Amino acid sequence: MLTGVRRLLRLDRGLRPPSINSCDAADFFSALDKFQRGAFRCLRHRYPERGSDSFCKLVAVKAANAFAAAYHFRNRHSALVSRPVQLQVDPTNACHLHCPSCLHSANIAWASRFDWPLATLRLGEFDEFCREFGPFATRIALFRDGEPLLHRQFPEFVTSAKGHLLFTLASTSLSMRLDAESLVASGLDRLVAAIDGASTATYSRYRRGGDFGLVIDNLRSIVRARRAQSSLKPWLVWQFLAFEHNVHEVEAAAALAREIGVDQLVVAKPYSVEHDDPSIKVAERAPFGERLFAEPRNWCAATERASVTRNAEAIDAIFHESWMDRYEGVGGIERESRSPGSACAWLYYSLTMDAARRITPCCLPPMGAPEPRHLVYANFNGKNTGEVVNSFDATRARRDCRSGRTRDVDVQRASPYCVTCTEMPPPPMMPDVAGYLLSVDERRGLPAAIPTVLAASRLFAWPHNEEENSEFSV
Ligand code: SF4
Ligand code: SF4
Repeated sequence: MLTGVRRLLRLDRGLRPPSINSCDAADFFSALDKFQRGAFRCLRHRYPERGSDSFCKLVAVKAANAFAAAYHFRNRHSALVSRPVQLQVDPTNACHLHCPSCLHSANIAWASRFDWPLATLRLGEFDEFCREFGPFATRIALFRDGEPLLHRQFPEFVTSAKGHLLFTLASTSLSMRLDAESLVASGLDRLVAAIDGASTATYSRYRRGGDFGLVIDNLRSIVRARRAQSSLKPWLVWQFLAFEHNVHEVEAAAALAREIGVDQLVVAKPYSVEHDDPSIKVAERAPFGERLFAEPRNWCAATERASVTRNAEAIDAIFHESWMDRYEGVGGIERESRSPGSACAWLYYSLTMDAARRITPCCLPPMGAPEPRHLVYANFNGKNTGEVVNSFDATRARRDCRSGRTRDVDVQRASPYCVTCTEMPPPPMMPDVAGYLLSVDERRGLPAAIPTVLAASRLFAWPHNEEENSEFSV
């Protein structure tokens, strides 16, 4: 017994995350390899049972990748060895509603400004995406500008992501025919239902084309299916965007949400939509904030950990591929670097793919004339992972982010939008890597210092800016 405790302490003491302030990239990635092996040993000590090997390897890879992303951000590298910590995918680019200001607005003059092809992602294409990016990431948002539940294989998308131990979340109007049983059985972790009212008349002013009665029926079906399957997932959120026309129904919505068995109500302030419909005004005063109707619970159960064994072979291969080799494969991360200054963390920790397999860095959709927003930096073909992360435009975007101009003089080529971007859209859910590690590592195999150090890294906090980043030290 004593030997075991001593061994654990020795392991804990020996496990040091590499310093993200390290100037020498070779030193950093060599230390990262050591860290990943040590993290695996610590985890394996706490999860010795058969079948836990893949889980321990996977978590070690994800933790190492988070440090690599923080290292790149700290040093403002243009090319990355790390992979995105957060993923965002549109299963379909379509939506059958027409909310004002959305790219699906019924206002053709507005909607036609967006560069948004109608497309549906095939499950096999999504599997490829997950195979390439899933082992390194901690969460995946299965939505952006399309309605994810219109995809008939949405539950299979969730199952695929779960094989890589990803926290899964989706946002939906819930205004469609729904197979609630399959949705719950998929293991989806969090479902945000956008319902801006507590009556048909009020709801329909903003959610145009939505059916309030159907939405409420669907909420009830999901709660029923959770009970029938003895499942606590998905955590159900009623999101209420507060406008002048609906703010009087917030309390009625709260009462209805509680009665149905929804877990949480979020009353949020939306962006102005008056440029599309001047009659819809954002509420200046409203009971903004969250109300909990249930106890928060850990999303990662033993079954989640066990489910990764179906990808055991791939996980093993990724675990044994060294960070040093990856670094040498990328090459030139210092040569391409910019000096420390303002940067956008989206470019370092996140990656978005729409249903046409177009890769963009964040949740902003591309736009065409008259005010083009060049944001498609690559197209994913199932294999070109490195080219996607370090595409010509992505590296230019990191190098010249918010500088106002690119250093290239190629007038034929559009500048990445990040060069002139002044927007800082908050992510749908921050990649809280520390929280993720605490959730998946229930038995605390990793020393407490690891999530603590990651929590202290400003990359995984919001908002972030140049001044805050100057305090960033690990
Ligand atoms: S439900 Fe969402 S995606 Fe669909 S039109 Fe409304 S805002 Fe756009
Ligand atoms: S700089 Fe702007 S466009 Fe580029 S990733 Fe950041 S928020 Fe998105």
